[in-house]
Amino acid sequence: MPEGPEVECTKRGLKPIIGRKIKEIKLTTLSQKYQKYKAQKGLFKIFSGKEITDIERHGKFLVFRFDQEEAILNHLGMSGKWLLTDNIKKNSATHPKAIIVMNEPPHAIFDDVRNFGQFRLFNNYKEVTKYRPIKTLGPDGLAEPFAVKEFIARVSKINYSEKAIGEILLNQAVVAGVGNIYKSESLYRAKIHPERKTGSLTASEKKTLGKIIPEVLQKAVESSGTTFEVQPFVTPEGETGQAQEWLCVYAREGEECCSCKKKIERVIQGGRSTFFCPECQK
Ligand SMILES: [Zn+2]
Repeated sequence: MPEGPEVECTKRGLKPIIGRKIKEIKLTTLSQKYQKYKAQKGLFKIFSGKEITDIERHGKFLVFRFDQEEAILNHLGMSGKWLLTDNIKKNSATHPKAIIVMNEPPHAIFDDVRNFGQFRLFNNYKEVTKYRPIKTLGPDGLAEPFAVKEFIARVSKINYSEKAIGEILLNQAVVAGVGNIYKSESLYRAKIHPERKTGSLTASEKKTLGKIIPEVLQKAVESSGTTFEVQPFVTPEGETGQAQEWLCVYAREGEECCSCKKKIERVIQGGRSTFFCPECQK
């Protein structure tokens, strides 16, 4: 699933359509199969002739802004990606679901193989900020500077103390933008075992996590995100991610740890795989 860095790369890649007017937002015949798109079909008409004033990222969400007016919230889901193209009919999209046809190229296509992507329309921008999944977001892992104190306060909440840190770091209210890949990598670099109870972390370990998480996320943005089989991420410009080149533990079960040569292990936490080194992480 695309995490904060992949969504950030998407946001940056969509820059060419900011400040420009939409001709129409089209839902493809492929999208008609899905009720969630179908139900909103007519509503997309209001965007015809409107200028996209900004595209923001909130955690793993994108928000297409039209000043204070109606806004479109988009989540890439498991495999969604945006592509920019000069040709709506001929391009690299394999499962186009929505097309933002601009007054002049490039146009933007939402390509979503697994169909977990989401669109949600709001009457005005203020409503977006009140939408619970946005309102409850914790400090953004890619914000500069990262709000370390706020992160420490949130991770230290008493109701998380009995839960494993490997699960808690996926909670977007603790730190926004972290997903399974960068969570595993951050815990590895912080030398913290993912099954440790959150309440057992020392002040110094929490501080280390608060330093390492933004470093890992920033590095992933610089690498244009992670692209591999389970995450076929591509930026709107058609660039594949390179972060998988430096990932030490994620999806490397049974391979040697880069540092101690012990074999990387995998554990299931909250239904998701966490990868770690049993020697380096305590
Ligand atoms: Zn190791």
